[in-house]
Amino acid sequence: MSTLTVGVLRETATRERRVALDPASVKALTAAGRAVLVEADAGSAASYPDDLYVAAGARISSRDDVVASSAVIAVVRPPDTALAAGLRDGQVLIGLLDPLNHLTMVHELSDRTVTLVAFEMLPRTLSRAQSMDALSSQSSTAGYRAAIVAAEAFGRYLPMMITASGTATPAKVMVIGTGVAGLQAIATCQRLGAVVTGYDVRAASRGEVESLGARFLTPSVAHGAGGGGYARAMTAPEQHAQQAELAKMLESCDVIITTAKVPGHAPPVLVSTATLAKLRPGSVCVDLGSSESGGNVAGSVDGQRVVTTGGVIVIGGGELASDLPTSSSQMYGRNVAAVIASLFPADVLVVDPTDEVHKNIVISTGGVITNESVAHALSPVDDRLVTAVAS
Ligand code: NAD
Repeated sequence: MSTLTVGVLRETATRERRVALDPASVKALTAAGRAVLVEADAGSAASYPDDLYVAAGARISSRDDVVASSAVIAVVRPPDTALAAGLRDGQVLIGLLDPLNHLTMVHELSDRTVTLVAFEMLPRTLSRAQSMDALSSQSSTAGYRAAIVAAEAFGRYLPMMITASGTATPAKVMVIGTGVAGLQAIATCQRLGAVVTGYDVRAASRGEVESLGARFLTPSVAHGAGGGGYARAMTAPEQHAQQAELAKMLESCDVIITTAKVPGHAPPVLVSTATLAKLRPGSVCVDLGSSESGGNVAGSVDGQRVVTTGGVIVIGGGELASDLPTSSSQMYGRNVAAVIASLFPADVLVVDPTDEVHKNIVISTGGVITNESVAHALSPVDDRLVTAVAS
């Protein structure tokens, strides 16, 4: 019987330092009888040199060989054009593939009968799915990192300090969006001694914020929860009302960490230009909502540090999980290994359409788009293709 070969590639996206499998996850896979092929230097940016992978039972090889010889390829980010072009029939690609924003790639790879497994589509509230929850593991490291980045950029103490040379009052931190990343940012800022407040449109998060010892501010928005534990998208008037009420709440804050996201929508702008103008010079905003499609803080640029004319430091931190690459990869590797264990009880892919995890996380297999949301999002593309062929 042939052994399942799992391939690990070096990520090619700019600023990406994570790797899809760390040596500990490789060891777990090889101990379970899987073969693992790792591209040379795949883990070096995450401080996992090749010799650690070899010690874990992997073989180091060239990128071309990993792509050609692996039945399963684990990645962090959606494949670049060259990788997508190199994938062949029957291969399985596992990663944060962001399918709803990469519909053309999904369509093409599905047509070539590549099986696509996207962490974003995991039903996260199922307890047996928790070991596979890469959105949570990466949000958690990003939230922690946001607090550290904010503390580093802030020119004052976060905790209260009483010294012979004077007394420093503790910094006031506001965390907007108290999901997985926000709660981790709150916990970290609390440990650093700041006075922390959380704000979220999901009233259900009050208990979680308060259990960390932080204060929770109730927004005026009614029924902010949407489906699946996520927030719903706000209407334009609601968003303006939120900006106005936040402007008052934020005036006295020193550090603002924003994490507000709504699946399938651009992140809401919650800290407006007018609010930024009211903050004291030296105040810091770390925007975890920042991405190519915008962010929670007006003027934030993903991956950059911008200083407003009023001296407020705005850090676009949409990719902060990659800024803690060793821990992020360690968690992510476990998520990948758990998905492989679920989909490969032996050495052959078994997608059970009655299994809630498989039904959602596998977005395409055998040339068919199996995930309902992705199929729905793709239907206009298919219609356009049909129209184009007919005309
Ligand atoms: P997310 O990344 O989608 O959003 C981050 C936070 O931003 C959320 O708390 C959301 O309510 C908030 N937000 C969105 N729009 C906002 C606005 N206009 N104003 C203020 N806040 C706004 O969320 P997430 O961290 O992925 O978590 C989503 C949900 O999934 C949460 O309810 C979380 O508890 C739940 N979850 C459950 C499990 C589990 O049951 N095992 C695991 C992970 C997450």
